Amino acid sequence: MAHRRIHVSTHYRVLLIVLMLMVSGCSPTPEVNLMLLVADTFRADALDCSEHRDRTPHLCALSERGVVFENAYAGGPWTFPSTVALFSGTSPTAYERATDEPKLVASYWVPDEEVLLAEALSDRGYRTAGFFENGIALRANVGQGIETHALFDGVGPAVDFSAIPSSIGFEFRGGRNAGMLPLLQEIVTAPGPYFLIQWMMDPHAVYSPPPSFLSDLTHGPLPRSLEYYLRLGNGDDPRRGIRDLAVVGPELAPAELQLIRDLYHREVRSVDERIGYVLRALDHAEARDHTLVVFTSDHGEGFGEHGGFLHGGRSLHDEFVRVPLVIAGPGVARGVRVSDRVSLIDLMPTLAEWFGVDALSHATGRSLVPALRGEALRASQPFWVVDVSRQRGHAAVIDGDYKLIQRPEGGVLYDLAADPNERLDIAHLRPEVLERLSRTLDSLRDRAAAKRNVRALDSPAYNEWDAETVRQLQTLGYLDPDTFQ
Ligand SMILES: [Zn+2]
Repeated sequence: MAHRRIHVSTHYRVLLIVLMLMVSGCSPTPEVNLMLLVADTFRADALDCSEHRDRTPHLCALSERGVVFENAYAGGPWTFPSTVALFSGTSPTAYERATDEPKLVASYWVPDEEVLLAEALSDRGYRTAGFFENGIALRANVGQGIETHALFDGVGPAVDFSAIPSSIGFEFRGGRNAGMLPLLQEIVTAPGPYFLIQWMMDPHAVYSPPPSFLSDLTHGPLPRSLEYYLRLGNGDDPRRGIRDLAVVGPELAPAELQLIRDLYHREVRSVDERIGYVLRALDHAEARDHTLVVFTSDHGEGFGEHGGFLHGGRSLHDEFVRVPLVIAGPGVARGVRVSDRVSLIDLMPTLAEWFGVDALSHATGRSLVPALRGEALRASQPFWVVDVSRQRGHAAVIDGDYKLIQRPEGGVLYDLAADPNERLDIAHLRPEVLERLSRTLDSLRDRAAAKRNVRALDSPAYNEWDAETVRQLQTLGYLDPDTFQ
């Protein structure tokens, strides 16, 4: 008997090894880690490796060893709708629910039944962790499957902004890596694959980079002190000495506007430096060769190009919704630039396919995997960007190089190839294109409505958010009565 048992056991052990070898042979990337880096409010043109490589050396190096999507669009012009689109691979409209918030047309909730990428990877043995500096990014239940959440609010979790002496400016943002790096080190050095998300708040206003990024700052004559410009943000906040850039912005003189842009780009530099730390942590763990790194943002930022500053609820021009998207790692083509217009709803379906997991079956985004392999994408697929602010009610649809922004006062149409800065409304010149894109937008809306997940309606109401979240929303200007981010 004993002899037989040993025999069977040995047999099974051999079988198990054979099976493991088969599985690892079949699976495209069995031990590849996934790292998603998101910088909030990072305009697409802030990553400019031909003209401004010195601004983002680490991101440029990442771009050169991977695929850059030059025309990627967020699903919405501010964090809440954009994150729903990003994590669900679906227009946020599919997850609409009622809201009591007077400034919102809709609120969102992704029901537990949906299988998001983190859940599928977790089921496959991945450790999942997210370091978030913007709590709004998790508000619609898109953090499903992320086992470890850490919400950094300044130098560490649960920092009270009001307790930070105004004399130190806002340099605390530069300290965020200090709290995050030990956790990151723990994740990347432990055995087994992982899916890690780092969501950085910068370069979101206020544009107040760490002092080391201001040492060589020069500017023309200014009517106010530098401190004033370092404290322009979302909504007036007398307690923190912050003025609302949305109000002040249109009145700024050229030298002031130049300074504001410069401060923003210095925050971009500080974000790049942080990303450099993260990528070095990968090198330290000898993990770079088996880690897929994705860099993107949730929306852009306006500097008055079309009259609007900041982001969200103001307009859907490209400065507000076009974002960087870089994917690099093992198996990904190197040095490829893709000019096709793609949506961030495409990202998670792409990653699910790349990692060979069964997730996001509800998603409407298309796979970008051919591009990761260095092949052409299939024919373009129209997508839309939704704005949920009640006072605007805008939506945009992008189909090839045409972009229609539908507004209550009428639509505006642009040919983005001929007019990338959206200066010339060609709606009256190309009525047939206007008509076609209007129909496309209607059908995308209908499709999202048909897919609308009724379970979302049972979710907690907006006004039941916990006090800490509401406080953070107010701090960021999202619940200000006059502004909307
Ligand atoms: Zn955001």
